[in-house]
Amino acid sequence: MAALTRQFFKPQYSSMFIRSLSTNTSTVSLIQSTGDPKGDSRSFQWVFLGCPGVGKGTYASRLSDLLGVPHIATGDLVRDELSSSGLLSRQLDEVVNQGKLVSDEIIFNLLSKRLEAGESRGESGFILDGFPRTIRQAEILDDVTEIDLVVNLKLREDVLIEKCLGRRICSECGKGFNVASIDAKAENGLPGMRMPPLLPPPQCASKLITRADDTEPVVKERLRVYKEKSEPVEDYYQSEGN
Ligand code: ADP
Repeated sequence: MAALTRQFFKPQYSSMFIRSLSTNTSTVSLIQSTGDPKGDSRSFQWVFLGCPGVGKGTYASRLSDLLGVPHIATGDLVRDELSSSGLLSRQLDEVVNQGKLVSDEIIFNLLSKRLEAGESRGESGFILDGFPRTIRQAEILDDVTEIDLVVNLKLREDVLIEKCLGRRICSECGKGFNVASIDAKAENGLPGMRMPPLLPPPQCASKLITRADDTEPVVKERLRVYKEKSEPVEDYYQSEGN
């Protein structure tokens, strides 16, 4: 990871990287020309895959605390950018609130900035949540570093929708909670499922907000986009043996 940020995600490499995305220049040759990023020792480099609402963020943040490895959620990076008042924020607003994917260029730009900031704080390793979300993102990530483990979380679709609609965030500390009380009956070969709500502590209870893209039509669109663009990433990592 340190190597990844040193060799690739420094500002000068970020701009080369963006160029390589738009011109289809091989990212591998870009990295080879700047040194071998895979040579250094490093800590955990994990990826969490799964549909919206499956619990990637919850599990990744718990593991992040346990392992002392940063939890990097590209959705959070997008939302941080959305809360600023820049031009990019207005462009992102439309894309995100329609349940579509943000362009690779923007995502890599946000991710590289996050990695650079982390490196300057002495971070190493990562648990990536919400990235990669397309085969192209997975291939580029593979070109620049090694992934040790991919965790793929699954949940039946009706429960995913209920969980997205029950999701709440504390506007002060940023922690995620869920007010949905899931009691799904066994049907069509799917197992029944009970999940109690994940309620906030008293200091967060009055500060809860709902994400603008957690409405039923947008959640359904995000699930459709996941099937189309992100499910192939599961097969990609399976074939890579991750
Ligand atoms: P979800 O709950 O759907 O997993 P996230 O919080 O991960 O949502 O992401 C929110 C939104 O941010 C996505 O719907 C998408 O518009 C954008 N986004 C996040 N990560 C990526 C990515 N890797 N590639 C493209 N768009 C992304």
